[in-house]
Amino acid sequence: MNYISTRNKKHSVSPSRAILDGIAPDGGLYVPEKFPVFSTEELVIFREIPYAERLARVLERFLAPDFSFEELYSFALRASEKFDGDECPVVKVDEEIYLLELFHGATSAFKDMALSVMPYLMQAAKKKQKDDLKTLILVATSGDTGKAALEGYRDAEGINVMVFYPNDGVSGVQKAQMTTTEGKNVFVSAIEGNFDDAQAAVKSIFADREFGALLLKKGIELSSANSINIGRLIPQIAYYISAYVDLASSREITVGEEINFVVPTGNFGNILAGYYAKRAGLPIGKLLCASNKNNILTDFFRTGEYDTDRTFHKTVSPSMDILVSSNLERLLFEFTDRDDKAVTELMTDLKEKGKYSVGNTVLTALDREFFAGSADEKATKETIMNFYDAYGYVLDPHTAVAVSVLEEYLSGETDDTKTVIVSTASPFKFARDVYEAVSLLKAPNAFTALKRLENFTGAEIPEPLKDLDMKEPRFLGAIKKDAVKDSVLEYAEKI
Ligand SMILES: *Cc1c(COP(=O)(O)O)cnc(C)c1O
Repeated sequence: MNYISTRNKKHSVSPSRAILDGIAPDGGLYVPEKFPVFSTEELVIFREIPYAERLARVLERFLAPDFSFEELYSFALRASEKFDGDECPVVKVDEEIYLLELFHGATSAFKDMALSVMPYLMQAAKKKQKDDLKTLILVATSGDTGKAALEGYRDAEGINVMVFYPNDGVSGVQKAQMTTTEGKNVFVSAIEGNFDDAQAAVKSIFADREFGALLLKKGIELSSANSINIGRLIPQIAYYISAYVDLASSREITVGEEINFVVPTGNFGNILAGYYAKRAGLPIGKLLCASNKNNILTDFFRTGEYDTDRTFHKTVSPSMDILVSSNLERLLFEFTDRDDKAVTELMTDLKEKGKYSVGNTVLTALDREFFAGSADEKATKETIMNFYDAYGYVLDPHTAVAVSVLEEYLSGETDDTKTVIVSTASPFKFARDVYEAVSLLKAPNAFTALKRLENFTGAEIPEPLKDLDMKEPRFLGAIKKDAVKDSVLEYAEKI
């Protein structure tokens, strides 16, 4: 299977090239040339096999023949060692309420699902491409990708990682996870600005050919671990299929029956993987796109206009505080019937005018497959409290946004389709806000909040978040957003 650019279909490369490039040379995003289709018989087989094998089979369909099943399976097995128990259990909280827990990896957020396997894909991609350059991965993070990349790539041979996060835009626990990170090949810095500033700074470095050439002279190539990279996106398809077959195994559904997913959304990577799973034959009815107070996607799905001229809100679900959702470009590509010229025009509008619009045909087609809604801060906190009161289950704020949007959907629509809530983080990552939401009490700092949340709810602090306050911070710097390039150059001199 080859990968083509959303801005030029004729630009077609192997998966290993796409993984190394991250972004296509024309600024477009790589997408699969066509979608593989999993048959009902295959889904039945999937029921019987453990997650690592499910993951390997999904990867194979998207990455073969460049990658063989044997190597993909060995990567999936190694990734699976980084999880405590099941990678992505489906938890039944009540009749017809299912949570797909994606936070059992090394950093307690769903980014681990892909970033535990992506380093192996990248190292193998380098070998296949006979690439002996040093790879420098630049990450702009709203909190969770950063730490997951730092853990995933820690001490990986031939690869270094630099992470930039918005200084006031991540939770106390997230910040502590990143500043105390270990490994010889990693660098972390805060930047003064919000996530979009961090993402824009990193994107502009990728787009700067002169700078790229300068690094190349030093034997360094840049790459990304964000969900613009297909090495991050493709592994995420597997857990949609896994959730489906698990529900079939426990006889909640029969194979072939449609189900819905509600997905807390920021950069549109997670929900796009759900859409790709649907295109690959998974019986999915609606995908519910849940936004927080930064509800640009909700407006887009309702009006067809994507307009970034709006206030950026800092919320209790910081990993969704995003105005420019990069992966929407991939969805637009599909819904314009793969019209690369149209996508290029839309993206030019976005760059030049800060907005774009799609016509009614696209909007109507989107409406058939997606529902979009949003939850403000009050609704998010109330959902955490109500859900805890009703089920004794503690939601993280991102997942609470999804639950709130599901309620919104069901209040306006009669839809008996069973729905899986995609649960993206452990509540302990956002301990202060969650503790306040369930107890109506305040904790003075993130570390106290972790312990109090544990005592109050009886839920256990996950291993990766224990003893964070005992670790010595290694990276305390904060730089201005226009100093990111200098910082990359300085680090490049040292590796
Ligand atoms: C990254 C993240 C999201 C948003 O996922 P996207 O793929 O960016 O849409 C939601 N919740 C949590 C906890 C996250 O870390």
